[in-house]
Amino acid sequence: MTRDEQTRDVGQERTLPLVILGEMVIMPRIPVPLQVGKGKSYRAMEHAMRGDREVLLIFVSEEEIEGFKGSEPQKLPPVGVIARLEEFLKLPDDTVRIILEGLERAEVGDYVQNEPFHMVRCTPRPDPRPEGPEVEALMAEVKAQVEEIISYMPEVSQEAVAFVHRIDDPGHLADVVAYGPAFEFEDRLELLNLLDPVERLRKVQRELSHQLELLRLRAKIQSDTKEALDQSQKEYFLREQMKAIRRELGEDDLDEDPIDELKRKIAELNAPDYVKETATHELKRLVQQGMNSPEAGVIRTYIDWILSLPWAKEEQQPISLQEAKRVLDEDHYGLDKVKERLLEYLAVRKLAGTKMRSPILCLVGPPGVGKTSLGRSIARALGRAFVRASLGGVRDEAEIRGHRRTYIGAMPGRIIQSIKTAKSNQPVFILDEIDKLGADYRGDPTSALLEVLDPEQNATFSDHYLEIPFDLSQVIFIATANQLDPIPGPLRDRMEIIEIGGYTEDEKLEIARGFLVPKQREFHGLQPEHMQITDAALLKIIREYTREAGVRNLEREIAALCRKVARRVAEAAEGETIAVTIDAADLPELLGPEKFSYGLAEQHDEVGVATGVSWSTTGGDTMSFEVLPLRGKGELKLTGQLGEVMKESAQAALSYVRYRAEELGISPTFFEEHAIHIHVPEGAVPKDGPSAGITLTTALVSAMTGIPVRRDVAMTGEVTLRGKILPIGGLKEKTMAAHRAGIKTFLLPKENLKDLVEIPAKVREEMQIIPVEHMDEVLKIALARPIKSASNPPLQPKSQKSGKRATPSA
Ligand code: ADP
Repeated sequence: MTRDEQTRDVGQERTLPLVILGEMVIMPRIPVPLQVGKGKSYRAMEHAMRGDREVLLIFVSEEEIEGFKGSEPQKLPPVGVIARLEEFLKLPDDTVRIILEGLERAEVGDYVQNEPFHMVRCTPRPDPRPEGPEVEALMAEVKAQVEEIISYMPEVSQEAVAFVHRIDDPGHLADVVAYGPAFEFEDRLELLNLLDPVERLRKVQRELSHQLELLRLRAKIQSDTKEALDQSQKEYFLREQMKAIRRELGEDDLDEDPIDELKRKIAELNAPDYVKETATHELKRLVQQGMNSPEAGVIRTYIDWILSLPWAKEEQQPISLQEAKRVLDEDHYGLDKVKERLLEYLAVRKLAGTKMRSPILCLVGPPGVGKTSLGRSIARALGRAFVRASLGGVRDEAEIRGHRRTYIGAMPGRIIQSIKTAKSNQPVFILDEIDKLGADYRGDPTSALLEVLDPEQNATFSDHYLEIPFDLSQVIFIATANQLDPIPGPLRDRMEIIEIGGYTEDEKLEIARGFLVPKQREFHGLQPEHMQITDAALLKIIREYTREAGVRNLEREIAALCRKVARRVAEAAEGETIAVTIDAADLPELLGPEKFSYGLAEQHDEVGVATGVSWSTTGGDTMSFEVLPLRGKGELKLTGQLGEVMKESAQAALSYVRYRAEELGISPTFFEEHAIHIHVPEGAVPKDGPSAGITLTTALVSAMTGIPVRRDVAMTGEVTLRGKILPIGGLKEKTMAAHRAGIKTFLLPKENLKDLVEIPAKVREEMQIIPVEHMDEVLKIALARPIKSASNPPLQPKSQKSGKRATPSA
């Protein structure tokens, strides 16, 4: 028992100077240092120092203390603490050092005086000392709680635990605990007002157990995320906390942790060991660097790439040649020779497997002749995936083989990208536009491609980005090209070339009728009864809406018709049936005005205009060559975007005409008095090559002699200065284009006769094909009237009138 309890009367009302403290509570039996402003409370303490040093403390909130500063006496709280001033020391710097020790609770009575400080009546209420098992248990419980709470606070010394354990007075225990950080001013005030120590202790116990729950939760969160984390892993740490919190809240359906997810995916990846090892190694790097590091994105992308590639050994589907033939026929009209070559290729693959160095197929032909769709059919026939990568404009080795990972924004090359798309390591892989491959300072893509295609190397194809080898040996590569010549030599040597020429009108009609229309109809969700297109309409589309070697635009126009009908079907009223038959006359309304005029380019035989044929990657076409003599002094003007070679041919043609002027009946002074303008219309399209030689010469002679050129004759061939005619290339496309344009007579170099085998029979039947060796023969046939020369009798065109001429058989 303390001295005070012995000497003072319990329950005896007293009058004490009042000290008002804001936002703090001083519990009995605990010494506290204090700072007080020089107001009434200060004066009250000065007064107490002169007597028994005892004051009554009351505790109010920040707002209330403002009221106490005024002159009006404020309402007093029910309970205060009687305290003794242990120290009240005025320091030289005019501040005061105060130490107070609370003695006991007291019920607060009324004011006795208000100036110069408050004196208040109060009745001391020291804690009773209840005993019994319940109190014991409660105390033990609170002590255990305190111990546990302190265990979560490494900054609090263990002394505090020992101190709490030594307390044997329940009320005092509650008061001491109320100083803990878990309690706020309001809580402490509530505890102060509770005069019953057991009740007070119970409240403390409840408060602590709530506190503990929070602490345990936080600790759990922390232990869930207890891996040693550095600064860069802050993000990861926070995510973990968030997840732990969500888990605690029962929102357990969380996304998997990204690292765990990668780990699991690597474990599940069906791939050779070296792949998994690399992926695991990278994952370790990712963990080390932290998800938040600048490197993390790069590493993740890399791991994702590894995870997304089809590494696993795939089952080899047996090749059935019958099935392959069936599928090829089902998808394509005609192309018999091409299909045969494809089947031979598959037969070899079937027998030799991958043991043999089977050559890479290369389909060469103008656009829209079915190169890609043949590849697709092969894939379908073999039950393999199908992918294509365009090599057009690829100049950089890295586009084939990828960039090294040190390069910003690095990615695998097109081969690996396509394999990812295919989701299979044995797809049919179309390498499109292999003739448009370039090469420059960034390295030659050809050599990279050679490695891709070489069966001895491609089992361990190494992409710069991936760095680990990928097996391409099961891939069926098929290259496509529009032209053969530009394909780099080493590549061409590796490939088996299959040429596909353009289609004739009849073939196009068959393709449209049997393949394109049904395909597009189905594509647009139409039934055959919804839409029919007559042959006349198809022919009109072929002739007047398209001008092409293949059927790409034809298919596009048919698709346009299907769209129109599909719309009508969709808009039809309930019960209404739509059955459209599209005839030739309907086309302008549905497809707009005709895009090309069918038939001969010229209405009449004209002077100075001859018809040549050109050949480009898009197939053949007819082309007019115009010559106009103007007043001048023998200059030569060339327009229409002519290339160097064609310009030289024009000069050679002019020289030839000058050289033969007399025989051709051209006045010797003609060249002194005239300039020559040569123009090839469609000026925006670049034209080049030597094969227009005979056409240019014919147009020149016509212009100078005034004899018209037959508009139904087309010609091709290079001319020497002496008028000899040399062979040219692209004959098949050229004759087909002439046939398409309604040309009746086609002149070609005699040396090209051997190429006639390629030309469809229909073209040979419907168009006279005449081999020529010399310019004189050309002029005889192409000019509408014989030439009258000064020195010679007129050059008489042979059987010009009958128009009959035996077509040489090839
Ligand atoms: P390419 O690859 O030669 O440019 P595509 O394979 O893209 O041509 O063919 C264009 C369209 O024409 C495709 O829809 C294709 O199915 C179709 N096609 C081409 N040739 C034929 C053919 N002989 N029979 C049926 N459809 C064909």
